[in-house]
Amino acid sequence: MPTSKTLPYDVIIIGAGINGCASAYFLSQSGLRVALIDHVGIASGGSGAAGAFISPKISKAGELKEIMSEAHAEALEFYTTNFPQYTLSKPLLHIANSPKESEKLEYFKCDTTLKHSRIDAELKSLLTPEAIADSSIYFYEGAVVDAQGVCNALVEGIDYFTFNVESLVHEEGMWRVGDLIGNHLVLAIGAYPKLLPIDYVGLRGIWGHRIDCETSTNIPCILHHHVSISPTTNGGIVAIGATHDVHFSPFSGEPYDVVQGREILLDKASKTLKLNNINILKDYTGLRSGSNDYLPMLGSLVDAEATLAKFPHIRHGENIDPSQYIYYPNVTMINGSGGYGFVLAPYLAKRLRDFLINKIEIDPILSPSRFFPRWAKRQS
Ligand SMILES: Cc1cc2nc3c(=O)[nH]c(=O)nc-3n(C[C@H](O)[C@H](O)[C@H](O)COP(=O)(O)OP(=O)(O)OC[C@H]3O[C@@H](n4cnc5c(N)ncnc54)[C@H](O)[C@@H]3O)c2cc1C
Repeated sequence: MPTSKTLPYDVIIIGAGINGCASAYFLSQSGLRVALIDHVGIASGGSGAAGAFISPKISKAGELKEIMSEAHAEALEFYTTNFPQYTLSKPLLHIANSPKESEKLEYFKCDTTLKHSRIDAELKSLLTPEAIADSSIYFYEGAVVDAQGVCNALVEGIDYFTFNVESLVHEEGMWRVGDLIGNHLVLAIGAYPKLLPIDYVGLRGIWGHRIDCETSTNIPCILHHHVSISPTTNGGIVAIGATHDVHFSPFSGEPYDVVQGREILLDKASKTLKLNNINILKDYTGLRSGSNDYLPMLGSLVDAEATLAKFPHIRHGENIDPSQYIYYPNVTMINGSGGYGFVLAPYLAKRLRDFLINKIEIDPILSPSRFFPRWAKRQS
């Protein structure tokens, strides 16, 4: 009898963060045979650290705003409908934390179709004078999901393997990953070292720290200001996060200063409201994987060496239509969600499914290969 390991999979997904788990969910729901691999466990990377707020991105008009607002609407519906047991739905107060953000927020208020209002007196009574004075918007609908709970629920029943993928081999039209063989490969490895020579993909890791704590202060809604603060859960827990540290890397070998991280979080939270009798229960840390242009990534990957050999003048600025580039066969990357991985994952994973099953082209704006021509010019 062949074991599940020897039969070819339709899709092998590397990385069991929210992007890998949501991809596995949508692809297996559509009848594909999916294998999911992670070197540590489900939701062990950036996704395991996330506060996992499903919040709108406050931004001005443009492509990013359109994608984010579509993704936000899809995510709210997705988690509340399919995973209500891991989703806490509460109103959301977003307070600007700088004059620049205040300007964006005032613009957003005039433009958004999301239901919102000013804050009422009861909520105001909880806030510091600084938080009351800053521009704000109170959305009637917001949500926060249990990051680890939802990732585990997404992949229930899916073949999962724990090992570190060191190399990828493509032979006889199939991908071999360890002992597994699959037709299509999905790379969902966040800010971890790349598994293919794709230096042109503009990604950076942004370290984050959040804490779960007990406090005697009851928080009725989601708060975003200098940090995000969750509503008090049924278990009496409040999540505070997260820090954004572009300098610390867990791959550097240097230890991370947890005590300092906690101080930063509590100091920032105190600018929004006073939290009484705090007792920190747990720390969560991880890397977000942000793209250089803030747009997420979903799409095929250019084989840089083969493409430069075919079109050597790209190095000197020759303009080649991306459809002429040489791509790795049957590989899709899903990545670059920055601080919005839980908001973007259902949106990206649905489009991955539509691409693989219904052959619907992925919006080229999301292509990880968008960074290739500029990188190629620097290779001359
Ligand atoms: C502190 C913090 C707070 C956040 N808060 C929010 C929030 O409120 N809302 C929101 O939407 N987003 C939030 N984010 C962002 C969100 O968590 C990320 O965008 C999301 O986790 C990205 O998911 P991913 O699946 O791409 O990557 P990851 O979750 O990092 O998953 C990648 C996985 O790949 C595995 N892997 C890597 N290389 C290999 C290999 N060679 N072999 C096998 N496995 C491998 C890793 O072990 C890891 O599990 C937060 C992030 C952090 C760090």
